Amino acid sequence: MSTDCLFCKIIAGDIPSHKIYEDEHVYAFLDIGPVSKGHALFIPKEHAIDLCEGSREAACALMGVVHDVAPKMMEALGASGFNLGVNHGVDAGQEVFHTHLHVMPRYAGQARTFEKRQPSQEELAGVAAQIREKTMPDA
Ligand code: AMP
Repeated sequence: MSTDCLFCKIIAGDIPSHKIYEDEHVYAFLDIGPVSKGHALFIPKEHAIDLCEGSREAACALMGVVHDVAPKMMEALGASGFNLGVNHGVDAGQEVFHTHLHVMPRYAGQARTFEKRQPSQEELAGVAAQIREKTMPDA
């Protein structure tokens, strides 16, 4: 945990988030500036500024969770695919310096834009609840 890290504060519950998945090592929540419905960030609980600064084990665990959880997100949302993204470093557009993978669900017949939207908290809460029905059915 890094005390001045936004995503560490989200994991700790000190800053609210729209959680879609959690286990011992990984936390996932909706991006507040989604490029598509259900755009989520998957982050390791162990703090590292980026994918390569963190351990290989943490990187593998993170990808393992995306492997298992992304299909459930797609099923919950009726998505037909997803883009998986990493902005590694300032010059690649990284803004938050805690490792994260973007999972951006995509829908048949919809334009594949990377333009961010600003949905209401109510809309995000509804989408997160819809996803959790498949990703965290016992929560
Ligand atoms: P990156 O450019 O890869 O570092 O992406 C950081 C992402 O974090 C951006 O897409 C932001 O919209 C998102 N973000 C920033 N603050 C929050 C927050 N409090 N809750 C959810 N997503 C956030």
